[in-house]
Amino acid sequence: QVKERGKGHWRFYQAEMNAHLLARIQTDHAMRLGLQHGEFELHYQPRVDLRSGRVTACEALLRWHRPGHGLVLPGAFIGVAEETGLIAQLGQWVLEQAVAQARRWADAGRPAQVAVNVSALQFEQTQFVQDVADTLQRHGLPAGLLELELTESILVRDAEEALAKLQALAQLGITLSLDDFGTGYSSLTYLKRFALHRLKIDRSFVLALHEDGQADAAIVAAIVQMGHALGMEVVAEGVEHAPQLQRLQALGCDHFQGFWYARPLPVAEVEAHLGRTVTLPGAAPAPSA
Ligand code: C2E
Ligand code: MG
Ligand code: MG
Ligand code: MG
Repeated sequence: QVKERGKGHWRFYQAEMNAHLLARIQTDHAMRLGLQHGEFELHYQPRVDLRSGRVTACEALLRWHRPGHGLVLPGAFIGVAEETGLIAQLGQWVLEQAVAQARRWADAGRPAQVAVNVSALQFEQTQFVQDVADTLQRHGLPAGLLELELTESILVRDAEEALAKLQALAQLGITLSLDDFGTGYSSLTYLKRFALHRLKIDRSFVLALHEDGQADAAIVAAIVQMGHALGMEVVAEGVEHAPQLQRLQALGCDHFQGFWYARPLPVAEVEAHLGRTVTLPGAAPAPSA
């Protein structure tokens, strides 16, 4: 009897697995068609320099106008693209669009650095550095206007290979950032060795600056200090409230992004922000517990 039940359970489990696999295959297929049919679009979130208050950069964030699904956010499809390998192609599309856009802004007299997110699998492609160099050259974009956001996972998989690629990219003049810092597994040794230009503090820690998370607030302070000690600039992401911003200013954080200033916006809307000077609330010391 136990065996019977076990068997039925297995069948149920397998059906569920099949459903998951099927959904993945469908999403992958829809993404491939979507790339051909122009369903993807980049939105850009302004980034503010905390010292000058100026909008000096923006981050490209992928959006999918999937027929029948409305506007789909990356959380719903990037994972699938990573699993199926489509991310390499999708990532190259993103790079192409972002570089072309950065060039148009520079030509229009509003130069802004554009940050592009790069998946580990994309970074691991043998020709990745060459693809980036070719893309910059094709569009005649100064490398200083491109920033690549990488995650800690690229540092652990094949450290030697990663180091060589990062050095080659830095040599080209590209700014390299470590995204979602604090959520992955990078050790201080890695951080020192890879000599990246910027650290992006993950939103989860920034959130804590607004709430009662004293421990998390201490982590943010430590990240800013450590980043600076290693010669890196520190960027806070996910700033939604003025008190968070005031705390970040007091901690000496260099840049921020977040809904407090602006959400990721379509090209036509983000343009007006580039080069603008934002009125910041002014630094505030830590609240006494
Ligand atoms: P990320 O690179 O860490 O990007 C920051 C995410 O936080 C974005 O979500 C952004 O819209 C959101 N965000 C920014 N400010 C705030 C805020 O104040 N409050 C809140 N609640 N959220 C804020 P999004 O656009 O949904 O992207 C999610 C993730 O998907 C990105 O995280 C990135 O890891 C990935 N992603 C997005 N575009 C691409 C891409 O072109 N290629 C790759 N490989 N990954 C991408
Ligand atoms: Mg990012
Ligand atoms: Mg991030
Ligand atoms: Mg993230």
